[in-house]
This record gives sequence, structure tokens and C-alpha cells, in this order.
Amino acid sequence: DIKYLIRPTELAKYFLKDVLKEGDVVVDATMGNGNDTLFLANIVGEKGKVISFDVQDLAIANTKKLLENNHINNVDLIQDGHENMDKYICDEISGGMFNLGYLPKGDHHIVTKGETTVVAIEKCLKFLKRNGMITMIIYHGHSEGKIEKEQVINYIENLDQSKFHVMKVDYINQTKESPILITIIKK
Ligand code: SAM
Repeated sequence: DIKYLIRPTELAKYFLKDVLKEGDVVVDATMGNGNDTLFLANIVGEKGKVISFDVQDLAIANTKKLLENNHINNVDLIQDGHENMDKYICDEISGGMFNLGYLPKGDHHIVTKGETTVVAIEKCLKFLKRNGMITMIIYHGHSEGKIEKEQVINYIENLDQSKFHVMKVDYINQTKESPILITIIKK
């Protein structure tokens, strides 16, 4: 289906579908309305687990409702910043999703910030197993997003090439604000 190739959010899922399997433990670093959490929960199945993070009540409530409606019960919903994820993860993880920015239709002041996002990526990569993959969507159309993009790109382009494959997908004929997809695979 062509839609997987023309939207960064869909392309992220397209890659993850290839890498993840039933029984895996994975992280949704920005649960928001729960769409990515639901996607991950369906892939890893009841034998697997999704650990999802968000700082705001609305995200937890919306995700809880979405999961209940879909009879999903393999998710830990954690109301804390992803920069603290090491407090909640004890297994190796096979993958993770970061969908940065603010909650669509929510409070645009509650937004991911470069400094804490970098800490979260660093922690996530520590738990990631060999051949595991992290995907990230960076929205840089808003002012905080511009700063975050700089900080995140600066961090990931300096990741040790003997340990990680880092890829950036940028749809370069779109407006400057078109979101960017990053994938990181652990060697
Ligand atoms: N993945 C979501 C979905 O499928 O609906 C969309 C995520 S939305 C673009 C970004 C989310 O990141 C917001 O809900 C926001 O509250 C959350 N967020 C902001 N700072 C955060 C932090 N430090 N840790 C975890 N989540 C954070």
C-alpha cells in the first residue's frame, strides 16, 4: 500500500512491522492518544509487552479508553517523562517509538523538549537489543520543535557507527515543516 511510503509516521510503522515480532517487549516513549501504543500492542501480542509513557492525564485517559475498546491488556501505561524510563524497564527491548511534539487537539504547551528527549533516546538505546530498532518522528514546524530537532540530530549523528545504524528520511520537496523520520538500529 503506497500510503506507507509517503507519510513519515506510516513509514516508521512499516519498518517496525518488519523488525518486531510476537512476544517482544517494546516502548512507546510518547503515548499521546494511544495510536502507536495500539499498533505496537497488536504486533507483540499477549505474550509481549508495551511500556508507554506520557506526562499528561489526557494522554493516559485517551490511551486507556482506546486500549479497552480494542480489548488490549498487554500495556503498562506510565505517567512519567520518558527521560525516566530506566525506572520502569527491566528487560531488554526490541524496539521503541518516539512521536515527538505536542498532543494533537491537546495543550500545545505540553511538548517534548530536546534536552529530555536526548536523555530518553540514550536510555532507550541502552535497553535496545541487537538488531532492535527505534523510530522517531520529529516535528519542527513549531518553535520548540526547531530547537528539539537541532539537539536530537546533533546527538544521533554522533552515535558511534560501530554500534548503531542511524537513518534520516526527509521528504525534501515538501514545505520545510514536513516531519522527519529517524530510525536507529543497534548493531
Ligand atoms: N504517539 C501518539 C499517538 O499515537 O497518538 C502521539 C504523541 S504526541 C505527538 C506527543 C506526546 O508527547 C504528547 O502527548 C505529550 O504529552 C508527550 N510528552 C511531552 N513530553 C513528554 C515527556 N517528557 N515524556 C513522555 N511524553 C511526553
